[in-house]
Amino acid sequence: MQYEESRLQPITLIDPLRISRPHYDSHRPALDNYGRRIDYLRISLTDRCNLRCVYCMPEHGMQFMPKDELLTNDELLRVVRAAAAVGFRKIRLTGGEPTLRRDLVPLVRDIKAIDGIEHIAMTTNAVKLAPIAHDLKAAGLDRVNISIDSLDAERFAQMTRGARLSDVWAGINAAESAGLTPLKLNMVVVRGLNDHDVLELVALTLQHDWEIRFIEVMPLTGVADVANDGVVPSSELIGRIESEFGPIIDYGMHAADPAHRYQIRSAKGFIGFISSVSEPFCSTCNRMRLTADGRLHLCLLRDDEVDLRAALRSGVDDDELMQIIRHAVAIKPWGHGLPDGILPTIRGMSALGG
Ligand code: SAM
Ligand code: SF4
Repeated sequence: MQYEESRLQPITLIDPLRISRPHYDSHRPALDNYGRRIDYLRISLTDRCNLRCVYCMPEHGMQFMPKDELLTNDELLRVVRAAAAVGFRKIRLTGGEPTLRRDLVPLVRDIKAIDGIEHIAMTTNAVKLAPIAHDLKAAGLDRVNISIDSLDAERFAQMTRGARLSDVWAGINAAESAGLTPLKLNMVVVRGLNDHDVLELVALTLQHDWEIRFIEVMPLTGVADVANDGVVPSSELIGRIESEFGPIIDYGMHAADPAHRYQIRSAKGFIGFISSVSEPFCSTCNRMRLTADGRLHLCLLRDDEVDLRAALRSGVDDDELMQIIRHAVAIKPWGHGLPDGILPTIRGMSALGG
């Protein structure tokens, strides 16, 4: 698929105080207008990162959000409390790189203490995870997904523009010993860069009860050129895996998990494919994203956002905040426009959290 500038979708930033909204029944779970139950909030704690992965950020020229535009911790916790009150149950902390937050451990503790929040996970590059893994577990973090794009130190450094694979292994080992499990490892597959490393990652499941997830590279802003020629359809990878390891067991997809799961016979772990580009899973989407500057981003691959920060800073009370979140859920778009070549424009993946 080649994506063209002319197919960029118009930006929609909704100031919830300037539109007319219906009144929502506060006793009903938050359903969108297509009947999907939305109960999973992915929170980008920062748009900054210690790495510059080739499929996520350009090497130079990144502009980060000014500090006064970021939600304060009090504002963030208020949003999570309101989200929990309208039915959100699962939180994922992401970024940018969430471990860059010095206050990460107390933040996890405060989020986990909120009534209604049942599960907190985090997605991390794990470079800085090892020293804090046990504290995070003690604070209430349930599990982590760790990004690792190759088991070859040189190629890993090339993909991340400079990270050390040994730091990530230290993070993986610490996460396991802290009980941040079941452990999932994410690999973004880019043709010609790391697609030949897939089999080595698959082989990890023979010895470990981990789930290794292969993610099709998505054309977010700043990296669309990598995605244009880089997508390796999951069906192609499955063919390569079966030639090496024999027929694999197909467990299909489950509920709102975007991964299609398989297992090599006799393996301890699983492999998963997240095929947002070649096989979109919008019909079972249960998630929304909160950006570090306080916008509810309604669909990963569209630009529609509801400005919660504006509402918070103009003094809305908790009932109004809950109404605004319910409205954002209601108007969540059905799905993304990639099959029609339509690209999101306003935020790169590092500002959205994956
Ligand atoms: N820094 C953390 C990390 O890398 O795990 C969390 C943020 S990162 C944006 C979240 C996830 O998005 C990672 O698994 C990363 O590999 C994935 N990702 C980044 N850019 C992507 C792209 N263009 N297409 C698909 N996945 C991408
Ligand atoms: Fe940073 Fe994660 Fe993006 Fe890599 S994928 S540049 S680690 S935010």
